[in-house]
Amino acid sequence: MSKVNRQEILDILKGYDKEDITIATLGSHSSLHMFQGAKAEGFKTAVVCEKGREVPYKRFNVVDEYIMVDKFSDIVNEDVQQQLRDMNSIVFPHGSFVAYAGLDNVENIFNVPMFGNRDILRWEAERDLERKLMMESGIRIPKKIKDSADIEGTSMVKFPGARGGRGYFVANSTEEYDEKIDTMLKRNWIEDEDIKEAHIEEYVLGCNYCIHYFFSGLKDEVELMGIDSRYESTIDGLVRVPAKDQLDIGAAPSYVITGNHPVVMRESLLPQVFDIGDRITETAKDMVPPGFNGPFCMQTLVNDDLEVVVFEMSARSDGGTNTFMNGSAYSYLYHGEPLSMGRRMALEIKNGIKEDRLEEIIT
Ligand code: AMP
Repeated sequence: MSKVNRQEILDILKGYDKEDITIATLGSHSSLHMFQGAKAEGFKTAVVCEKGREVPYKRFNVVDEYIMVDKFSDIVNEDVQQQLRDMNSIVFPHGSFVAYAGLDNVENIFNVPMFGNRDILRWEAERDLERKLMMESGIRIPKKIKDSADIEGTSMVKFPGARGGRGYFVANSTEEYDEKIDTMLKRNWIEDEDIKEAHIEEYVLGCNYCIHYFFSGLKDEVELMGIDSRYESTIDGLVRVPAKDQLDIGAAPSYVITGNHPVVMRESLLPQVFDIGDRITETAKDMVPPGFNGPFCMQTLVNDDLEVVVFEMSARSDGGTNTFMNGSAYSYLYHGEPLSMGRRMALEIKNGIKEDRLEEIIT
């Protein structure tokens, strides 16, 4: 299948009435502040929504146009794409958009102008590509353990695909690894073919910080927009059980994300935070042009040596941006008023139109 043609996207964009742009996305994930922010910056908004999921958009009154579909994945259907183009839509991608539309479809058949870099989404989805980008940029990441026979210290074992942490486990030795693989197979949390794809890395003992950045292509600068921490089942529930009872339960912790809370970091850690943002965006410019464009997130653990260790990234708006729909401590510092990630995205589009540079930030 051929890739979405850049020239075709630019031609569609050229045909748009720049005074009448609609900001559109799938009704899920982190769309509420995208719609609210787009309206605050004077755009019209459109949601592509699965029947039965429209309630929040109606109740919060953040959407002008509803494109109702039987299932979210219909967003790539030609008639839906045509409706979006007819409304002069620029699509804001997020995690659910990529998951439901499908990465191949976003790359190959979704002929609607998007904010961001559609090519970098694959670098988030494929662990080897993600690691390559992180290694090349020189940021601190967990050490990789090549083979289960080499496990010496506490290690984290992960499997491919977006599972929200399901099936992940901790092992301290090769024997424990083998035992836990058996348990996971019995629970049907992993399948035989997952085993050869198991990714083993250093377990980073520390606190979780998911850092939300915005890269402005227009300003050629990274902004720190907010930080959240994950609330995960069952690991966060287990710590509420007294230690002696934890043993009785015999529960192996899982890491399924159920929510997020906003946090701030020690101010002395912020130089590392900016360094990570600057390094990864510079490297991405060369490896996946035009690099990061708009929102992205580095998921980190901070250990007691005060190292910020990056274990994962999102190359688009991450769900944790919902913790600062009314602005964060950091986004406030730039603008002196509450600013969500969605509103920052809309602002970039507005500036792109004003400066006649929209084609630089659309793919
Ligand atoms: P992920 O699916 O990669 O976002 O990971 C899910 C959860 O597993 C994270 O939110 C962390 O709590 C935990 N985790 C992932 N990688 C590591 C690691 N190397 N060391 C310790 N915990 C980790």
